[in-house]
Amino acid sequence: MPRAVAGPEIERLIQLLARMPGLGPRSARRAALHLVRRRAELMEPLASALGDALAKIVLCRTCGSIDTRDPCTVCADAKRDRSILVVVENVADLWALERAAAVSARYHVLGGTLSPLDGVGPDDLNIAKLVERAHDPAVKEVVLALNATVDGQTTAHYVTDLLREAAVKVTRLAHGVPVGGELDYLDEGTLAAAIRSRTPF
Ligand code: ZN
Repeated sequence: MPRAVAGPEIERLIQLLARMPGLGPRSARRAALHLVRRRAELMEPLASALGDALAKIVLCRTCGSIDTRDPCTVCADAKRDRSILVVVENVADLWALERAAAVSARYHVLGGTLSPLDGVGPDDLNIAKLVERAHDPAVKEVVLALNATVDGQTTAHYVTDLLREAAVKVTRLAHGVPVGGELDYLDEGTLAAAIRSRTPF
């Protein structure tokens, strides 16, 4: 434990910042010092933004996403295609897909993946609500945008089985060559998946 260089209030700020993803103890010190130096332009607005957000954060009862309103901003957006429901593991994945701006759909956030080893079963995830939403006649396609990991694919198979009764097409993300990727540098699993899921040119 390094010796304290500042009062307990600033040390506590540093310790909390160090818990942020991507910030280690050194960058946390740098960030804290930056905040302390720019109190009026940065620290005060940040403190009040944190308070405002904290007071309003809720889970969307429709899709399971986190927002400051329920239904969330995405569910309330009338311009989105109501026929496509994109299933993601968590809110970070929803935000990532929105950054890609490739589809104007609605989402469903599972809140994790099935993981027998970690004791995560179907009842721990937002699955029942997904089945209910898939039975909405407006929904024609459910896209399983889950991680290409063992747990992600186990979850995809489980959800696909549950959706057999619903009149929806179930699709999943393509597996394969990343955009700008060179074949020689890919691992065998990715290359094998890419050749298996080849598409007409
Ligand atoms: Zn929502």
